[in-house]
Amino acid sequence: MFPELKVNIPNICANAAYLKKECREAGVEITVVTKVVCGNPILVHALKKAGIESFGDSRLKNLQRLQQNDIDTPLYLVRIPMPSELAQVPDTVDVLLISEIGSVETLLQVTGKKETKLIFMVDMGDLREGVWFEQIDHSLSKVQKLAKNRLVGVGTNLGCFGGILPEEENLSLLKHIAHRYSLSIISGGNTAALKLIEDGTLPKGINHFRLGESVFLGNDVTRNRKIPALSQDTFVLEAEIVELQEKPSVPRGSRGQDAFGRVPEFINRGWRKKAILAIGEQDVMPSGLLPLDEAIEVLHASSDHTILDITESKSDYRVGDIVQFHLSYGALLRSMTSEYVFKKIVV
Ligand SMILES: *Cc1c(COP(=O)(O)O)cnc(C)c1O
Repeated sequence: MFPELKVNIPNICANAAYLKKECREAGVEITVVTKVVCGNPILVHALKKAGIESFGDSRLKNLQRLQQNDIDTPLYLVRIPMPSELAQVPDTVDVLLISEIGSVETLLQVTGKKETKLIFMVDMGDLREGVWFEQIDHSLSKVQKLAKNRLVGVGTNLGCFGGILPEEENLSLLKHIAHRYSLSIISGGNTAALKLIEDGTLPKGINHFRLGESVFLGNDVTRNRKIPALSQDTFVLEAEIVELQEKPSVPRGSRGQDAFGRVPEFINRGWRKKAILAIGEQDVMPSGLLPLDEAIEVLHASSDHTILDITESKSDYRVGDIVQFHLSYGALLRSMTSEYVFKKIVV
């Protein structure tokens, strides 16, 4: 049944095992962040078997499902918590990333199966979560007084909102903050921080990374690169051609906006061979579709239709044929989330 997402477990596990080894040699332990695969328990069991010792997710619901599926490794909640979910956190979460003193106070009042430890988030410049680094001492001294030994570290997230790169400079500053408060865990980043290990510029003392994209896609979108030594052949999305006709390259008539309020650009290249795939915004982020047949161009999509220009392809496509794609991070996230995409796990 289509659209179908093929998940290559051996290649994903090989990525994880490689990253664990490379990071450990640099003094960094890794937590695999599973939000892009919606915390899929089959994948997590396979990763655990491949040697991964802790998992993180942005959604409490995903962590709860992992717990119900007997994943007994430490579980990290990597999105700062909603106040409304704090009461449930200690039943599932071993380590919580947090940035609001009020949330720390609430958490300390609730009890559960676990004594959730805290990593306090510092904004080193990317403008997502965390107390701004120049004002961190005020907050951190308070949190340490409140949480005592349950405060185990500091963390930062870079490269996600502002696209700010993790570098020797900003990570050194984070390390100094941790040392001022004698905190043992310094969670220095995500996939974008791997380059510092490759280059040998990671400040000594940064000892924890939270990795998602590198494990599941072998890419680093912040630095716009494939990571050497990792496999990018981890997910293949297959969709079916439902129409194949020659049409002009520019629409005809007075133009408004498309179904999503966008005004796409069209270049006049004459009549072209176009294929419509039965897949759309509801299944995938079409701009993140990377055709395995590199002569195919993805033009545009609406909720349920994606239009391809196949004029340059050497293959003789027919209606009913399947077209295969690798996926960007955003496209994978949406495909895993969509109940209309059938998941086929290849072991
Ligand atoms: C998603 C996320 C990660 C993983 O990031 P990747 O770039 O996929 O490696 C790490 N930390 C936090 C806080 C996240 O939200």
